[in-house]
Amino acid sequence: AKAHIAAVEQARALNAYVLETPEHALKQAAASDEKLAKGEAGPLEGLPLGIKDLFATKGVRTTACSRILGNFVPPYESTVSSQLWRDGAVMLGKLNNDEFAMGSSNETSAFGPVVNPWRREGSNVGAGAAGAIEGNHLVPGGSSGGSAAAVAAHLCLAATATDTGGSIRQPAAFTGTVGIKPTYGRCSRWGIVAFASSLDQAGPIGKTVRDCAVMLRSMAGHDPRDTTCVDRPVPDYEASVGRSIKGMKIGIPKEYRLEGLNAEIDALWQQGIDWLRAAGAEIVEISLPHAKYALPAYYIVAPAEASSNLARYDGVRYGLREQGRDIIEMYEKTRAAGFGAEVKRRIMIGTYVLSSGYYDAYYLRAQKVRTLIKRDFEAVYDQGIDAVLTPATPSSAFGIGEKGSSDPVEMYLNDVFTVTVNMAGLPGIAVPAGLDSQGLPLGLQLIGRPFDEETLFSLGQVIE
Ligand code: GLN
Repeated sequence: AKAHIAAVEQARALNAYVLETPEHALKQAAASDEKLAKGEAGPLEGLPLGIKDLFATKGVRTTACSRILGNFVPPYESTVSSQLWRDGAVMLGKLNNDEFAMGSSNETSAFGPVVNPWRREGSNVGAGAAGAIEGNHLVPGGSSGGSAAAVAAHLCLAATATDTGGSIRQPAAFTGTVGIKPTYGRCSRWGIVAFASSLDQAGPIGKTVRDCAVMLRSMAGHDPRDTTCVDRPVPDYEASVGRSIKGMKIGIPKEYRLEGLNAEIDALWQQGIDWLRAAGAEIVEISLPHAKYALPAYYIVAPAEASSNLARYDGVRYGLREQGRDIIEMYEKTRAAGFGAEVKRRIMIGTYVLSSGYYDAYYLRAQKVRTLIKRDFEAVYDQGIDAVLTPATPSSAFGIGEKGSSDPVEMYLNDVFTVTVNMAGLPGIAVPAGLDSQGLPLGLQLIGRPFDEETLFSLGQVIE
């Protein structure tokens, strides 16, 4: 824990942590030492972790990286993080993310962007006099950008993250780390700041597939406080790492061969196919005919749910409050000052698609599309397919400030390979699969059957 605390301090220029909690870490580490001495160690005893700032941590500031939560200190602990402490883990601090997890680059955070520890080969980046990183740096992806950067830069052994449309898998791909979004309902959402409740899931980002398997076992499990959290036993995920994949059927969706797909991404995908085939898997071409509607439908469903979830930030219950002549003006001023531009955009889109007169044309239609997407996968799995292989992202990490400043849709397009998985509630893992010609990491995604994270760990380990 001490070595990690020092590393976190030295790497402040990356802006991965929004709050360091060294006293907390040392206290937990001392308790772990005692348990280890007594031979009562939990599965994560003494392991130093970073926690995304979307997870409520008791007595420790939790803001979802939004000004509107101000200095909110929750009097409760999220179920997922409490299970990590139960198993012996140690908290180094809270990790940066896009505001309310809305974004693909970590640039919407009220605490500012996170720097990806990876650099383009030959790029002009160095540390300035004050240790600040200068030059053309890259985003770590989002929304779990702090989690991915911290793991990649060895500022924690693993981190918690959340994924509504790709926020675990895309940053993992951009930083050469592993990230798994489990099946919807596998982890409790209780105590996690809500973005789009029917899509949100917690999961780990780690350095290896095995690390993610160990983390997920502690994070998953039934919790009566989240009614969508499923009551089924949590398998020993680590046992599936290294298991043979001989005879498994891997689907390659032809609709994902997008027009204009980056040639390097296409080559990487082919490489992944070859690796799985060499390890004994059977490769089958499949069709997901409605996948092409996933992105537009996601950008209706997610903002709709977000606009409803964010209604609670009214200046009364949490954090920030601006003064007004009456309560309406207080609400307006608080929300105007507290939310960033992307969050406001989502609230406006969400309110619009839910309003009477537009509800049927947008929200209801998007929900129907969602069912069709889910059925596409059901049909494929009914054919005996064990998992689907796709690229994780359409490109490697891009530069800070490079995308989305004039056109938010440009940023939204980054989620083209990941949102389908959330729309269908399926598990998906991103594993590092190689470097592009700029020397930057690229990831592949494996999508599994509901509650079959084990197959993803077995397959993922062949690729990483
Ligand atoms: N980038 C997507 C969005 O902005 C997904 C974010 C997420 O998964 N939390 O909505």
